[in-house]
Amino acid sequence: MNNISGRKLYYWYQKAKKLAVANNIDPGEIDWLLQIITSLSSLSLRLESFQHQSSIVSQKPLWEIEALWQKRLQERLPVQYLVKTVFWRHFKLKVTPAVLIPRPETELIIDIALEAVKKSNIILDKNQHWVDLGTGSGAIALGLAKSFSQATIHAVDCSPDALEVAQENADNLGLNKNICFYQGSWWHPLAFLQGKVSGMVSNPPYIPTSVIPQLQPEVVNHEPHLALDGGNDGLDDIRHLVQVTPEYLISGGIWLIEIMAGQHNAVANLLKQQGKYYDVTIFPDLNGIERFILAYRR
Ligand code: GLN
Repeated sequence: MNNISGRKLYYWYQKAKKLAVANNIDPGEIDWLLQIITSLSSLSLRLESFQHQSSIVSQKPLWEIEALWQKRLQERLPVQYLVKTVFWRHFKLKVTPAVLIPRPETELIIDIALEAVKKSNIILDKNQHWVDLGTGSGAIALGLAKSFSQATIHAVDCSPDALEVAQENADNLGLNKNICFYQGSWWHPLAFLQGKVSGMVSNPPYIPTSVIPQLQPEVVNHEPHLALDGGNDGLDDIRHLVQVTPEYLISGGIWLIEIMAGQHNAVANLLKQQGKYYDVTIFPDLNGIERFILAYRR
């Protein structure tokens, strides 16, 4: 542990905020960084009252905090990777560049799953199986495990490095008994669950390949393309999930994924054409963008 004087930290804080603005980065990220690394609260940062504290406890000396901030500015490394941390729903999750940083808009997918269960004939008992395909950091699997505490959650990812992060998150949150992890592609490792699954929830890669280079440098230079690139029209993996999932779901079982703005009609048509789904419903995120699509297995 290190002690930094309030005055010194305040001086650095002012400078860092100016640099953030000059580099088109939200200065709020500095508050976030200092809340993770030091004992400061968001209130003392906002009121700037910490400048009068004689010493502030910090996991890192000030020069290391400065080096991290320089990395943020020069390499456009997302702040969540800098501190290997993201807050998502009520979880504090570890993230590394092996996993996509869970986005705030994805948080709603768990609430939609909960609502969908209320409208279905699914019985919330011990024999329930839920699946998170392409789990990444494990965020969705963890959200499901918390909300469906009786169920077994099966989390799949093709990246062994991502699975390591997801498993660590499950251990840290005490949810490892509820989640089984598998390395593989989509449903492939789960053949034993055919006809037994109550719900599939996924945030698959959905960005068209040609759009990827236009994303922010934070995303395109640092986040795993495996988690972003959905092929020519962005729908390659979604088409696969539409086709294969009916073999796995129970009757009345839930099919729920995140999509990109503008994909809702195409995905709804895929589901309708497949013929084994009913009640296809589109849900907006908090910005009013069509972000999620839900269907039930006939
Ligand atoms: N929401 C992510 C982004 O904006 C994309 C996630 C995905 O492809 N599933 O970059």
